[in-house]
Order: sequence, then structure tokens, then C-alpha cells
Amino acid sequence: MFGGNKIRSIHAREVLDSRGNPTVACRVTLQSGASAESEVPSGASTGSHEALELRDGGKRYGGKGVLKAVANVNKKILPVLRGLDGSKQQEIDRIMCEMDGTKNKSKLGANAILSVSLACAQATAQHRKMSLWKSLRETFDFHRKAGLPIATMNVLNGGAHAGWIMDIQECMLVPQQKKFSERLRAGVETFHALAKILKSRGGVTTVGDEGGFAPKFGYVEMAFDMLMEAIKSAGYKPGRDIKLAADIASSEFYDKKAKLYRMKVEGKDYRAEELLARYRAWQTMYPIESLEDPFAEDDWKSWEHALPHLQKKSVIVGDDFFVTNAERLAKGIQEKAASAILIKFNQIGTLSQTVDAINMAHQAGWATSISHRSGETADTTIADLAVACGSEYIKTGSLSRSERVEKYNRLLAIEEEMGRG
Ligand code: PGA
Ligand code: ZN
Repeated sequence: MFGGNKIRSIHAREVLDSRGNPTVACRVTLQSGASAESEVPSGASTGSHEALELRDGGKRYGGKGVLKAVANVNKKILPVLRGLDGSKQQEIDRIMCEMDGTKNKSKLGANAILSVSLACAQATAQHRKMSLWKSLRETFDFHRKAGLPIATMNVLNGGAHAGWIMDIQECMLVPQQKKFSERLRAGVETFHALAKILKSRGGVTTVGDEGGFAPKFGYVEMAFDMLMEAIKSAGYKPGRDIKLAADIASSEFYDKKAKLYRMKVEGKDYRAEELLARYRAWQTMYPIESLEDPFAEDDWKSWEHALPHLQKKSVIVGDDFFVTNAERLAKGIQEKAASAILIKFNQIGTLSQTVDAINMAHQAGWATSISHRSGETADTTIADLAVACGSEYIKTGSLSRSERVEKYNRLLAIEEEMGRG
């Protein structure tokens, strides 16, 4: 088709995310008429090394408006990219990085750049008349076969996502069944069993930012105990059928000056060594599949020291620690600081750089978890990306609220599609 792949138009606009905050949506239309709109997610417990999310400041939307980012797409990026081949993802992403010229994308905004990057990938899939995950495999050179990930399902929310009712941010279920749809069912049945247990004890079943329940737990162990109980009450065997995982998000309560982890809800301060002892105790009491951000983003020494003690029983995941940044990841690999990386494309700001981090991790034999943000949208690209790169894990929240469930539903559709061959 003549000129089919070329970018005809790019149009960004301001929409809302799942927390009711503005975010960027962007439509890319190719000469062939293929057209798709992306929506950019947004974090709350953000790492300090993340790329910059450009917000307007001022009074409008409490300073969270994104009209500057929208204007950067429509007035600055569009004129440069118009007429270029939209399927040349790496080139498109490289040009936008060069236009920005900063390390953290602070000039154009990572939200502006990512919106275009994702919409290009989606429009290209339309143009190719392919499922997005297949089109991503055509665009990128992944190291692994495509496959459906294991989901880590965040059913108990704490930390910054739930008004600090628990010191750690996420307690997750990790169903182990063979098929994705069976894993999803096991997670959902346990989620409902958990609701029943909470109700029977007079606990609240209102949910936090990622759709998980947010009752008040004085101690993290109380949350794990309740999950073990819910798994059994749903008819599953903890460990064999369903494991547990936790995102400690410890940068949120690390006191850099005092070098102390201050658990406010528990009312106790921990030195890194003491925190490590507590994690090791958890590993003896519960089937812990993975621990995310067990130490703070710049506490490299503690990560390195802890890994040999923790990695036999659990996968150790860096989120705020690596911020999907290939430079930080390379250091982590060299210094043996973790065994997996959480992947969030808005931490780095383009799809190509996201894939660079994934490939680097896979090449080093590390695991990856493709992740949503606490502020989400209806965009389901992470599901396709997880399948395309053959990621071990996906992290997309609880089993309630559409912005979370849509990703699971997309994976169900892909499972069906793959089953058809
Ligand atoms: P965030 O939380 O999107 O608020 O950063 C998710 C996480 O920490 O994994
Ligand atoms: Zn995290």
C-alpha cells in the first residue's frame, strides 16, 4: 500500500486516569487509515530516578493538568514525526529522545513522549492487521518465545495506595495453575473468599487504588495469615496452588539520614539487617514467590548483601530500584543486587527503551514483571507486551475495577488466540 506506514497525524488530548487525575491520551493515524489511541498511566509511589511526568502546576486540577504535555505532542512532536514510517518504532523513539535532549525527558515530558510511542505501536499493529503482541514481536527482537505470564495479584493494598493502613504497599496472590485462565480463576475465587472472611470479622471491604482490599492490619504477618486462610477457604493449597508475593515499596518509609526503615503503622524502626531477618522469617512461614523493593532505591549495599540470603526461596524484584532504566539495571546485574526487574514503560518514557531493559534482563537470566501503575487507564498494552516478550510475570493489580481487570481480560483473549494457533 503506497505510503501506508507513514504517519499522517498525531493528536494528543487530556483525559482522566483511574484516580481522577489528568493524563495524556494520544491518537496516531497512518496514511493507510490505521489509527489507534494510547493512554498513559501514572504512579503514586514513584522512584526518584524515574523519567519526568510533565504536569502543568498552577490551580487547574490542583496543578496536575497535562496541557503542556499535550501541547508538546501536538505542536512540537507532530511536525517532526509527520511523514515518517510509524512502524520504525526504534527510530521514532530515538528521534523523540533527541528532540527532548535531557536524561529524564524533562523538556517534552515522559508522558508526552510515551503517549506517541505507544500509539505508534498500536497503529502499526492495526496497519499490519495483527494482534498487538504479534506486531510487537515483528518490531522487536525479543530473546524468548511468546507466552502467557504468571500474574501477581495485589489483593491487599497498603502504603501510599491505601492511606497508610499497612506499612508495606502490596500483598499479592500468585496462582500457579498451568493455564492462564485457570490461574485467573484461582485468584478470583480466593479474592472473593477473602471478602467473605473480612466481612465476617467486621473488616472493611472497600478497595485501595489498585482494587485490593484495604483493611487495617497492625502487622504485615496478619495480612499474610489472612491470605493463607482465604486460599484454603477457596479450596486451594497454599504453596502448591497459590503462592504469595509482596511489594514492600520500602523507599517510601526509608529515612536516608538515619539509615533506618521506619514502619510507622507498626511503630518500629528497622536497620537493613533487621529487615532482612524479618524477610527471612517470612520465607520460613509463607510460600513467598517474590519480594519487590525490599530495600530503598539507593541503598545498594543492603540489596547486594541480602540477595544471597533471599534468592533461594524468592525472586527479588527491583522497581523503584531500577526504574526500567538500562543503566541502573546494568549496574544491578554487575553487582548482583537482585534477580528480577519490574518493567513500567512510563518510568523510562519510550517503548523501545522499555524493551531494551527487558532484553538486558532476559539476557542476564533475570526474570521480568511487566507492570501497571497505581493510576491506570483502559489501555491494555502491558498485557500484549508481557506475552510478546515471554515475561515470567505480569503485575496488574487486584481482581476488581475495570482498569485492572481489562488487562486480565486481554490476556484471556490472547490465550484463546494462541490456542487457535
Ligand atoms: P506506583 O505503584 O504505580 O504508585 O509506583 C506500583 C508499584 O510500586 O509497584
Ligand atoms: Zn513497586
